[in-house]
Amino acid sequence: MKKYDVVVIGAGPGGYVTAIRCAQLGLSTACVESWINDEGKPALGGTCLNVGCIPSKALLDSSHHFHHIKHQSNDHGITVTGVSMDVNKMVSRKAKIVKTLTQGISGLFKKNKIDWLRGQAKILSNKEVEISPTHETHDEKTVVEANHIIIATGSVPTRIPPASVDDKLIVDSTGALKFNEVPRRLGVIGAGVIGLELGSVWNRLGSEVTVLEALPDFLSLVDRQVAKEAEKSLRGQGLDIRLGAKVTGTGSNNREVTINYDDAEGKQQITVDKLIVAVGRSPNTAGLGADECGLELDQRGFIVVDDHCNTNLENVYAVGDVVRGPMLAHKASEEGVAIAERIAGKPGHMNYETIPWVIYTWPEIAWVGRTEEQLKADGVEYRVGSFPFMATGRAKAMGEASGFVKILGDAKTDRVLGIHIFGPNASELIAEAVVTMEFDGSTEDLARTIHAHPTLSEAMHEAALAVDNRTIHI
Ligand code: FAD
Ligand code: AMP
Repeated sequence: MKKYDVVVIGAGPGGYVTAIRCAQLGLSTACVESWINDEGKPALGGTCLNVGCIPSKALLDSSHHFHHIKHQSNDHGITVTGVSMDVNKMVSRKAKIVKTLTQGISGLFKKNKIDWLRGQAKILSNKEVEISPTHETHDEKTVVEANHIIIATGSVPTRIPPASVDDKLIVDSTGALKFNEVPRRLGVIGAGVIGLELGSVWNRLGSEVTVLEALPDFLSLVDRQVAKEAEKSLRGQGLDIRLGAKVTGTGSNNREVTINYDDAEGKQQITVDKLIVAVGRSPNTAGLGADECGLELDQRGFIVVDDHCNTNLENVYAVGDVVRGPMLAHKASEEGVAIAERIAGKPGHMNYETIPWVIYTWPEIAWVGRTEEQLKADGVEYRVGSFPFMATGRAKAMGEASGFVKILGDAKTDRVLGIHIFGPNASELIAEAVVTMEFDGSTEDLARTIHAHPTLSEAMHEAALAVDNRTIHI
């Protein structure tokens, strides 16, 4: 029986990054992965690379270009006529990017001498993992021995009985990344991150998009001021967002889908050509053998872990979407790195207070730390500084001047408690906020930091100055 220092189960951003870090630290490492891609071939990269972060951003970028050329070129004095778009080419471009990146992981595995064990892993004990071949591979069932097992089996789209996915007219996020034509009328159940991003893609390409969200508040996780602006902006772009709309049933006749939902006014119905079910994601422990090996799961099916990602089984750890905390790729990776370092005798560290969130709508939404509402609920005294992109030269020059940066600082210590951005390239700008918080920085630190001119980051600088009522450009 082959023996490893570490066997990682799953090769998404949680698993593959963990495996690489383990190997870098001199631990003999194998990674078990069962993913079979659209070409019927085993693939690394998990949800993130195959059907998540990367393909969604590829389509968001393509659709953003299309929308920009159609609707904003004129503002720049550029006349573009006869603009058309080829959905299949757009989707193939996305597939090519996915292929390049997933093959890249396989190259990294080779470089780091990580054994990729193709198949479905089952934990037999805290020292043994059984690998069953997936139908495309012809290997035998094998068992490997491990000193440490790291579970990174991720998540799968949540299913709801009123809208069962048929992969034709009713799809989940995976299906919504490969439509072969732009649906005229598109329904989206769930106004969460995934629903809004995918709804934006198809809206920009011409679909009439209706988003049904059961909760009465828009983006309830997000700072209210940001959520309000984002809602207004997305509605302005044509997304018909219906809040307090709980989907109770769907019916399809092979051409279109009728959706029944309840809202404050009673029973409602709409008809669409395609429906995306984006009601969240559920932890994936299917086939892992949790019951048999005694691995503890919580009531919602997440693997129970402590603050250091230890499960109830000795030397068995779990990271990423399959455990508590935000379902974000970078959270999964950093949890894994911390475990790898601890296994190698180093002080592995994971700061849950400084995980950045991004929603890749346009403008983008990004934040780190607490919202104003959370600070109020926690009884923390704080000061606020905010600054609109409209008052920065760069945003004006770009023609992308909507949104703002908002900084929350502790009223007594001035320590930054949260930074919220709604605006162009917020996904990149948030990095400065994360670094500031990671270093326990103050709003004064940001205010004294020299920001290049003209840049969007000047809005961050001015928001920090605003905490102390000393903005220059307003
Ligand atoms: P996963 O990426 O789900 O990987 C788990 C892997 O484990 C899979 O490859 C699976 O095949 C494998 N596996 C499971 N069970 C077994 C088993 N028993 N044996 C062998 N292999 C197994 N996050 C962001 O941070 N930014 C984004 O922009 C973003 N966009 C997203 C867009 C969409 C449409 C979706 C669906 C998700 C998005 N996410 C985004 C979320 C992100 O994809 C997840 O948080 C991330 O993939 C979690 O990583 P993971 O390693 O925990 O799990
Ligand atoms: P997220 O978990 O961020 O991906 O968001 C999923 C969203 O789907 C949540 O805001 C849920 O409130 C919403 N949701 C779940 N079930 C339904 C339903 N039956 N009808 C409408 N919205 C739903």
